[in-house]
Amino acid sequence: MTDDSTPLPATGCRDAPVLKQRGQHEVFCGLTGIIWLHRKMQDAFFLVVGSRTCAHLLQSAAGVMIFAEPRFGTAILEETDLAGLADAQAELEREVARLLERRKDIRQLFLVGSCPSEVIKLDLARAAEKLSLQYAPHVRVLNYSGSGIETTFTEGEDACLASMVPVLPETDERQLLVVGALPDVVEDQMLDLLSKMSIDNVKVLPARRADSTLAVGPNTSFILTQPFLGGTLAALGKRGARHIPAPFPFGEEGTTAWLRAVAMEFGVDITLFDTVTHAPRARAKKAISQASEKLDGKSVFFFPDSQLEIPLARFLTRECGMTAIEVGAPYIHKGVVGPDLDLLEEGPTLSEGQDVEMQLDRCRAAQPDLTVCGLGLANPLEAEGLATKWAIELVFTPVHFYEQAGDLAGLFSRPLNRRAKLRLEAA
Ligand code: SF4
Repeated sequence: MTDDSTPLPATGCRDAPVLKQRGQHEVFCGLTGIIWLHRKMQDAFFLVVGSRTCAHLLQSAAGVMIFAEPRFGTAILEETDLAGLADAQAELEREVARLLERRKDIRQLFLVGSCPSEVIKLDLARAAEKLSLQYAPHVRVLNYSGSGIETTFTEGEDACLASMVPVLPETDERQLLVVGALPDVVEDQMLDLLSKMSIDNVKVLPARRADSTLAVGPNTSFILTQPFLGGTLAALGKRGARHIPAPFPFGEEGTTAWLRAVAMEFGVDITLFDTVTHAPRARAKKAISQASEKLDGKSVFFFPDSQLEIPLARFLTRECGMTAIEVGAPYIHKGVVGPDLDLLEEGPTLSEGQDVEMQLDRCRAAQPDLTVCGLGLANPLEAEGLATKWAIELVFTPVHFYEQAGDLAGLFSRPLNRRAKLRLEAA
């Protein structure tokens, strides 16, 4: 397969030292994932078993982004539940009965654990098992935790997908399983590229509907589209499926490498691969070069937040001409991001976990041109004169594969353009 990409770095970052940090950290909890997962799974409902705080988080995160009747809600644990004075398990069953009576369209129900449900040790696994038996075959009830204790917001998707794997039917079919929730339009582009390479037996987890033919087995090869799916990777491994390691499909290079890894696994002819990818590669390169003009020669500092940091640092340094000062990630799972680390030139500080005050000190000392961080840090840093990008936007915006590569670069150049305009106006 022809390769006219940027030369490989002399030494990548796979074995570079990692600054491990444990201290106060500033991230959203795993409930946030419900906002994009409920849109993807069109017959699923997410019932958070939590407090009013959890309900407020969901409403404020979702309120600005959705306008239709949502497929998520909160079963609120009152003080009597938290004090152990009421039978929360029985109340939950009554809530579920009411919900399923009213909403016949629900085919998958996720009971989502939260900090309060974990504190009172509500056994959601047992509840899900019991309710699944009661409502089968029309509704499948599963559970996972979106709790904010020691987690980051993208872990919610991982926990959700991992909870689905053990109940998938077994298959011996040779198939590709693509894992990760992508916007439908992006998923369709990816399926089209694979189909043009004659890889047709492709399934996607999560499927759009519960009645899909999704199954897994020893002849399943799977590839991740999101770098925060380590738990799902382990769950699929337990079912005998084989992981295809690859850089993540961000930018032209990442997308080509991701597709190439699949093509090699399925024995796709080199000429066919080149024919299928030639035009979209050229389009992506052109779009990136236009959108990244302002990024060239600039520096970037990543706070740990979305778990997309390492693949994005690879994209920004190799395709947009930026220099990475620090690449912080909540977790560094080399089985997942190893191929991206191989491509990331040695130089930036790699940090895992967070001690926010110490990291802020490093950021202020470095004065990066662009800081990628969570919402809570962005405003104070902007006030101090640093340009910032909200990491959470990268999860809500279509950024994968060739046709979105220019938009991805644009997401990073926009804060720099805005800052340049403000400076001009102030002058
Ligand atoms: Fe807050 Fe925990 Fe509820 Fe998340 S799960 S909103 S961190 S109480």
